[in-house]
Amino acid sequence: MATIFTKIINGDIPCYKVAETDDFLAFLDINPNAKGHTLCIPKVEIDKVFDLDKESYKNLMEFSRTVAIAIQKSVPCKRVGMTVIGLEVPHAHVHLIPLNSMEDARFISKEKLTSGAFEATAKAISSHINF
Ligand code: AMP
Repeated sequence: MATIFTKIINGDIPCYKVAETDDFLAFLDINPNAKGHTLCIPKVEIDKVFDLDKESYKNLMEFSRTVAIAIQKSVPCKRVGMTVIGLEVPHAHVHLIPLNSMEDARFISKEKLTSGAFEATAKAISSHINF
């Protein structure tokens, strides 16, 4: 069965899109640790990020770097953190999280955002991305 992220890639369920290439997609996490929390995924459906072939892994990291730099430019934060977990969704993904304190990295305190805030945040980040 297709993962929820494959359904997003196929347009079967919506997302707040930040960036897209032929091989990768970045969109806002729907239950963010902090405003601007973004997920970067390969379009190929592979469960564990470290099971990607070397080239795809390197390209995912490069794609994530581009998105992280755009987040840093558009979301006020001390720095952008990168985390790989994957316990909830079995489709490889990188979390990019704007950090102001360790709390933002702990996946415990969550930020509630309106759909307008999600939309504005995705737009602000994507305005700094040029492939
Ligand atoms: P994990 O697999 O533990 O790395 O966590 C998966 C992440 O995906 C969580 O932070 C969820 O909030 C996020 N997530 C799950 N479903 C969606 C969705 N439909 N749109 C955006 N983010 C999602």
